[in-house]
Amino acid sequence: MKPSHPEHAAPAHGAAMQQIAPVICYPVDGLPRPDLAPFRAARAGWQKLSETLVPARDARCFDLPAGHFFRITSVEGPQVGDLNLWNAQDLHERFYSGKTRALHGTHLSTGDRMWTAHPYLRPMALITDDSLDWYGFDAFGGAVHDVIGTRCDPYTHNLLSKGGQYHHCCHSNLTRALADARALPLAEAERHVHDVLNVFMCTGFTRDTGQYFMKASPVRPGDYLEFFAEIDLLGALSACPGGDCSSEHSSDSAACHPLLVEVFRPLAPPAGWVSPMVNGYDRSHGRNG
Ligand SMILES: [Zn+2]
Repeated sequence: MKPSHPEHAAPAHGAAMQQIAPVICYPVDGLPRPDLAPFRAARAGWQKLSETLVPARDARCFDLPAGHFFRITSVEGPQVGDLNLWNAQDLHERFYSGKTRALHGTHLSTGDRMWTAHPYLRPMALITDDSLDWYGFDAFGGAVHDVIGTRCDPYTHNLLSKGGQYHHCCHSNLTRALADARALPLAEAERHVHDVLNVFMCTGFTRDTGQYFMKASPVRPGDYLEFFAEIDLLGALSACPGGDCSSEHSSDSAACHPLLVEVFRPLAPPAGWVSPMVNGYDRSHGRNG
């Protein structure tokens, strides 16, 4: 956290430096936003392939075949979810929240894509609808569906609570779900759990200290976030023990609710859609042979 009383005086050029306007790190002009019309047209007549009810303070895995849509829907009460996505054939190719944030900003909505980790770096899912897109950024700088948080985990809880043992953080929920889905030992499954898309969570950074904050999610039963799977995916969703994340997580004190995941098969793939290839970089890293 930046000190409120810095130890070093600003140099002569300090004020001028602070006044320089920022430059966008990754101009996405070379990365055109997808035309959503063919994806939306492909919804007509879609058939539900499966549905999974994720219990409160727990997680479940689900298969998301390439070319299918999936929706995460709030049921029963306000609840946030922590989403992990992997290539169904190779768990090492997983969601890369940091690069997704660098490309699309701190919070995702319709038209944004979720990207896979190096050395694959390709779109794995496209957000095709978001019933909370009306929220935008509030007066505190808060917005919904962030890629700035990590996932609540028992190690951070242990540090901050001076030795606490809590077993239903999203990290542990996702670990158990993946272990069950792929018959993996817990320790091996845990290595595949990664930073999440915080579905429905309302978060930001405080303006004065730059600290990560959360506040009550605006999500209500019936609200949903809809995706299109660009490659064959395995998904895992945890219904966070923070509930609507209005007060605390990493405990059983918050009111928690299940989340519904539905997978839909379109009658035909969206017109013009092709499943993306892995990244085109040659991986020589400047060395020949
Ligand atoms: Zn959580």
